[in-house]
Amino acid sequence: MIEIKGLKKIYGQGEDKVVALDGIDLTIKEGEIFGIIGLSGAGKSTLIRCLNRLEKPTEGKVIVDGFDLTKLSDDQLRLVRRRIGMIFQHFNLLWSRTVAQNVAFPLEIAGEKDKNKIKKRVTELLELVGLSDKANAYPSQLSGGQKQRVGIARALANNPKVLLCDEATSALDPHTTESILQLLASINQKLGITMVIITHEMAVIKAICDTVAVIEDGKIVESGPVLDLFTNPHTKTARRFITTINNQELPEVVLERQRASNGYSRLIRVSFLGPSAGEPIISDMIQKFNIKANILYGNIDHIKNSVYGTLTLQLIGAENDTLQALKYLEGLGLKVEVINIE
Ligand code: ADP
Repeated sequence: MIEIKGLKKIYGQGEDKVVALDGIDLTIKEGEIFGIIGLSGAGKSTLIRCLNRLEKPTEGKVIVDGFDLTKLSDDQLRLVRRRIGMIFQHFNLLWSRTVAQNVAFPLEIAGEKDKNKIKKRVTELLELVGLSDKANAYPSQLSGGQKQRVGIARALANNPKVLLCDEATSALDPHTTESILQLLASINQKLGITMVIITHEMAVIKAICDTVAVIEDGKIVESGPVLDLFTNPHTKTARRFITTINNQELPEVVLERQRASNGYSRLIRVSFLGPSAGEPIISDMIQKFNIKANILYGNIDHIKNSVYGTLTLQLIGAENDTLQALKYLEGLGLKVEVINIE
């Protein structure tokens, strides 16, 4: 559905030159929810703005639904843009128009003159986003979540094939964020619309994305299925995003005990898929090898529709027995990381 090849965006010239995108290659499949995560300044906004040509690439190709956006005339671009809806962090609503008039706006811009057709479509869209009772309200009378629902209805007005979401939940509280993400997921299911979500929050990726790309300094440093990123991250940046979400800061008392153990214990983190994989495996391991294991931290988490768990353990025993135990866990297909502490 979307093909990005060798995309470069350079702002300014000479000493003021900023390379915002530095050779991006990405393929986004039809119907998937594709997340792009990165820290502030990584190039996320520039990238998503190149996907509807709000930003003109310096080099490379951006092919959306078969059209290379870098090669279109202004008239062609206007038509193709109707296939690409966008929602924004700060909603970008028209404050002097009612909710219904905001949602009708893109239909009017597209040349629709039939008042009944517009009314019917607006009613459908407001129903889809759960705002049928707010048709005549003004944006200033709505909560943040309701404003974003209007943004979503407006973005869908012309039946786009792609929905671009630019930090769409960053201005919302966690509870509202969850309800907006649920709404986006259900729209993706119902309409089969491809979604590109940019965010700096791994919680957003984890909640609804199928595939994720990590962007850093204008380059994609890692990409693939979200579950793979969680179970087997390759880059430091990805690991940092994941560790933040797992909240696995070990208490100082554990670290002290570990430092005092003179090498007779080892901290490990075991990750597994599925709800019950953890406990029996650990007790089997203790029986098989001459070691003890303290469970320091355990967490079961949901990543879109899968269950993903981690256990942090302290293994106490002789070096060789501990190594055998680690091999045993790895042999069962679990991901095992040894945690080094200073
Ligand atoms: P993000 O969305 O990940 O925070 P941006 O895409 O906004 O990152 O920015 C990437 C880089 O490009 C940053 O160094 C930023 O300062 C620079 N940049 C973004 N927009 C402009 C602009 N219009 N003019 C000059 N530099 C820009």
